[in-house]
Amino acid sequence: MKLPRCWNCKHQFAWKDLCLRIKPCPSCEKSQYLTKESRNNAFLFTPICSIFIVVMLSINVNNSITACISAIILFVIYSLLPFIYQFTNKEQPFI
Ligand SMILES: [Zn+2]
Repeated sequence: MKLPRCWNCKHQFAWKDLCLRIKPCPSCEKSQYLTKESRNNAFLFTPICSIFIVVMLSINVNNSITACISAIILFVIYSLLPFIYQFTNKEQPFI
């Protein structure tokens, strides 16, 4: 898996530049927008945690264990998201 590059100067982003929010390129300072494909891929990850919580609650697993494992799943998802990002020069419509 590779981290994305700037659409303008091909600067390779560092993971820490992308994990909390997408910042402008540190090299050319151009704004970065997610391509429609990478945004759709990111949306596929978001229900994983909710599905997990529903399953754990339905089989009566202890709430604190569920919360703990959910936090780990969320951390892993947010750690992996930057690797599926691809950037373009303008914001693309959602649909
Ligand atoms: Zn750049």
